[in-house]
Amino acid sequence: MTDAQGHGRTGVANDGAGSTTRKLLGVALSVAALWAAPAAAQVPTPEAVLGFRPGADSMLASWAQITDYLGRLAAASPRVRLDTVGPTTQGRPYLLATISDPANLARRAALMEAQARLADPRTLDSAAEARLVATQPAVILISCSIHSTEIAASQMALELAHRLATDSALGAALRHVVVLLVPSANPDGIDIVGDWYRRTRGTPYDGTSPPWLYHAYVGHDNNRDWYMLTQVETRHLTRVLYRQWFPEVVYDIHQMGGGGARLFLPPFADPVNPNLDGMLVEAINHVGTAMATALADAGRGGVAHQAQFDLWWHGGNRSAPVRHNMIGILSEAASTRIASPVQLRPDQVRQSARGVNFPLPWAGGWWRLRDIVEYELIASEALVRLAANERAEFVRRFVRAGRNAIEAGRTGSPRAYLIPPGQRDEGARTQLANVLLATGVEVSRARARFTADGRAYPAGTFVIALDQPFRTHVKDLFERQAYPERREYPGGPLLRPYDVTGWTLPLTMGVAVDSVRTPVSADLERLDTAVLAPGSISGRGDVVLLANRSNAEGTAAWRALAAGGTVTFAPEPFEAGGSRWPTGTLVVRGARAVLARAAAELGFDAVAVARAPAAAEAPVVRRVPRVALYRSWNASMDEGWTRWVLERLGVPFTSVADSAVRAGGLRQRFDVVILPGENPAQIRSGRAPGFAPPEYTGGLGEPGAQALRDFLTEGGTVIALDEASLFAIGDLAAPATVVVGGRAPGVRGASQFSAPGSIFEVSVDRSHPVASGMDSVAAIYFVSSPVLDAAPGGRAIASYRREGSPLLSGFVYGADTLSGRAALVEAPVGRGRAILFAFSPQHRGQTNGTFKLLTNAILYGAAQAARSVPGR
Ligand SMILES: [Zn+2]
Repeated sequence: MTDAQGHGRTGVANDGAGSTTRKLLGVALSVAALWAAPAAAQVPTPEAVLGFRPGADSMLASWAQITDYLGRLAAASPRVRLDTVGPTTQGRPYLLATISDPANLARRAALMEAQARLADPRTLDSAAEARLVATQPAVILISCSIHSTEIAASQMALELAHRLATDSALGAALRHVVVLLVPSANPDGIDIVGDWYRRTRGTPYDGTSPPWLYHAYVGHDNNRDWYMLTQVETRHLTRVLYRQWFPEVVYDIHQMGGGGARLFLPPFADPVNPNLDGMLVEAINHVGTAMATALADAGRGGVAHQAQFDLWWHGGNRSAPVRHNMIGILSEAASTRIASPVQLRPDQVRQSARGVNFPLPWAGGWWRLRDIVEYELIASEALVRLAANERAEFVRRFVRAGRNAIEAGRTGSPRAYLIPPGQRDEGARTQLANVLLATGVEVSRARARFTADGRAYPAGTFVIALDQPFRTHVKDLFERQAYPERREYPGGPLLRPYDVTGWTLPLTMGVAVDSVRTPVSADLERLDTAVLAPGSISGRGDVVLLANRSNAEGTAAWRALAAGGTVTFAPEPFEAGGSRWPTGTLVVRGARAVLARAAAELGFDAVAVARAPAAAEAPVVRRVPRVALYRSWNASMDEGWTRWVLERLGVPFTSVADSAVRAGGLRQRFDVVILPGENPAQIRSGRAPGFAPPEYTGGLGEPGAQALRDFLTEGGTVIALDEASLFAIGDLAAPATVVVGGRAPGVRGASQFSAPGSIFEVSVDRSHPVASGMDSVAAIYFVSSPVLDAAPGGRAIASYRREGSPLLSGFVYGADTLSGRAALVEAPVGRGRAILFAFSPQHRGQTNGTFKLLTNAILYGAAQAARSVPGR
């Protein structure tokens, strides 16, 4: 049932950290060796190894030091085992410390197997259940510092591990509890933030955040990835959670702003997602208040409940577990300036009035990293004691939640989801099945054709029956969300959700999924992994026609260009190879062998012909487009996601900073410049002076805007994503009218329109090359995005309907604002053009259904650019 075998026990630090870290580590290790030598048989304290107490002012343990300390602890303590789950994005070890009574560690494999049975009550008869309720320890997972500027927990983890290893009362509790301690869910970030902190410590920039993302691709959005699993760190912990250990409790430790409450703990705020088991919501409240009581007992005030963090959203490290019948909680401590202390006068503390959700206001004063460490230690130890004292209840509740889910799937609606083959993007269909499988969901494949709800389905259809333990996870990903309209008071302003309001994966991924009301009877095989069927090229000739339905075909076109082929968008429909091909068909010449390999590997079919109807005026892409991706010092997550998506699609690009844009001469170097989603003020001004050394402050400014205007005038293409389209309109003179967004006079404000993370339907003008391969309607991701109208001379490529609401999932207020407006616009500027995306085509790497609009826009820009530069 589990695949934990093969995890090596880690030795002493070796983490692939940068050279600065290595130098610091060298010092730390030699000091530690001296200190540790006389007491080798003793369990070392963090202070003895690090040379400072965790949480000491201005001091941060690097990942190498964290790895080193936990390795020494595991070597010295029979209660601690340390595993490397796998490498991080930058090659550091992703660590998992398993801490329990030595007798429990000795039967670790049996405990894991029993947890898997508890997670799936279908495997338990009443005798087996009674035996496990009587004997199985509770399993709790504590995850630290997924957000790396929220760094206290990664330091606290060392002291928690030491206390669990050495304290006698905690040792007694560990007979009944297994603690899975993840010292950081983003190890790379501990060094990215720690290196920046050490570099700026004692300078005017002491305590600032680094001017780049603290995860190579996704920064803070690493905690928005727990169902899509795009990043390796997410996949590592997901495997531990839903394939190996199945803990009853997942505790995710965060920090928030520094001016208010000292620590947020559950109960969470409304609304509660309708799919959540109310019993688990009560258990979340129970754990949160137990932690808060322990803090109050220890004389620690300033704990707040029911603020800001709601139970609606899916996608966080505390929200995906609840959809797996686990108690998912977080805490959010008030931040210091990284490791530097802050002082707040009583009048500077912005906290709620005293009440049931805030019974012990904080008096103000100094607030140090050590304070956060102590709050988090008290909360963590309270959880260990609670799980020990109520072990049987935790175990029994986990089984009961699984039974509830199975019963709801057996009696409720729908009974199953079906994902038939033959989709526009088979790669997306396969990926959807695989992200479910990775989160422990059961997915089967039909061996033969069958009928369900009166409809015929072919062999190869994926079947997800909902009478399974992790039903809530699937249902919440597959159904359409209906976020309630909530206001501060009747008639008052709208309350914003904690994160987005809708996330329906079949819509964002562009995969057709049917829900069925009756049980499915078919010849099924359970899948471990969904495998993409290889595709091929039929027909004779060297001209290959790509319908461009899948993202894989776009990737294949890039490979063809790299191999010396050419690509054209068919400017009108044509007949070839016995079928009719629509406008926008990709006509690829001179790369058949490359395309044949791509078809086999990426799973698409294509047709080759000897010659396609020539369209003399159709622009041709003759080499790999030269793409610049703008990267500001604001550490833009949208930039990181864009980079991640382009890399996955095989689109080469060059990242350009402000200075490279301001230097001008862009047209000589690039065909296309992409501006990721940032608002105009951020793009213009960048990072404010005083928040980083001068080389990392400032934005494009007027020189950068002028350079981009010159680029457009000379035939270049600017692709502006989401709010960056307002910059293109306001600063680059791209002609379009702003209906919602920015601060221009006449635009609609928040009192008239709101859609903070929703999926909308648009109609697509398929006669435009940017819409190549799209259907006539598309689901787009809208996150408080702009709403536009094409101006004279411009063209709307995607538009909202004129009648009724375009909402597919999530929330919209003032839907009439969208009526007939444009979501995607080509706006000509000089000999060039801006492609204005008034939505997020690559949102958090989840919107496979609209990735193509981005890659088409790049190809289109390159094709047009070829016209405007002689000799290309
Ligand atoms: Zn956080």
